[in-house]
Amino acid sequence: MIDILSYLPGKRKATPSGWVSFNAVCCHHNGSNVDKRGRGGLKATDQGWSYHCFNCGYTASFILGRSVSFKARRLLSWMGVPDAEIDYLNLESLKHRNIYGILEDRQKTFNTLAAIEFEERDLPPYAELLVDEGDYRDYVCRRRVPKDFPVMAQMQNDGVHWTRPHVIIPFTYDNKIVGWTCRFLDNKQPKFISDSQPGYVFGTDLQNNTWEHVLVTEGIFDALSIGGLAVMHNTISDAQVRLIRNLGKQITVVPDQDQAGLELIDRAVELGWAVSIPEWPLHIKDVNDAVIEYSRLGALLTIMQARETSKIKIELRKKQLAKRIRT
Ligand SMILES: [Zn+2]
Repeated sequence: MIDILSYLPGKRKATPSGWVSFNAVCCHHNGSNVDKRGRGGLKATDQGWSYHCFNCGYTASFILGRSVSFKARRLLSWMGVPDAEIDYLNLESLKHRNIYGILEDRQKTFNTLAAIEFEERDLPPYAELLVDEGDYRDYVCRRRVPKDFPVMAQMQNDGVHWTRPHVIIPFTYDNKIVGWTCRFLDNKQPKFISDSQPGYVFGTDLQNNTWEHVLVTEGIFDALSIGGLAVMHNTISDAQVRLIRNLGKQITVVPDQDQAGLELIDRAVELGWAVSIPEWPLHIKDVNDAVIEYSRLGALLTIMQARETSKIKIELRKKQLAKRIRT
């Protein structure tokens, strides 16, 4: 196996979180200036490594048991790893294919057959993983985002960056970055700016293979806090329907408890999906509010208890909700 650390350029610096930073090797291959400020970062684990350039935005990763991706291959050759060694790494890696690799490949085949694919996208320039403390971290804790989710932000303050306080949520699919959304934390408009692809559903990578159920919510923070999916609109497009069905789980739609939520309920009924409209107190408007109030498990219980599969019962609950919203 290649010892990737031995191929890194000199002048490396290790951070407490396990990243090694050094002058990035990618930038001039991507039309950016050569990095002289140590903006390349690599984190190695027993299972592989991931690379991130905070200068030109290039990312690549490698996981033992998977084939070496095109982006990883390019990166390794920029580092000076000979082609023959990269081919050897690929062969060796595939010998380590384990049950999870096989399951993932099977899922990928399903996805390809269902034509669910997203292109790899770059994060906003200068996006870095959030540090452990500070206002941004307080915000994501308050919204009950799981601690191991890679929330990012532009941490520099030199005029090139967004000056409004914000957090960046990477959109992933099959553990690839396929977009992102930036949530501004002041009260100005716009609240969000995003780079999202048609048909994308947030949260598929939050699902566990052993879970039988999947919750479909509207917002990113709903999905993050409960471990569900977010369709990011008050409707569900046909492409999103294919992707959600393809997960092979019991589907429950949990709408926001507002006017827009009523539309999502209609769409769910049309699709024959279960709907849950728990009778939360008035100040709880969505899944994220419920998780903040009751904890993740508590909110999950209220959702599963109110789960309805019968069209008549869903319509009844919808009428009750419409009345609650008006009062
Ligand atoms: Zn770069």
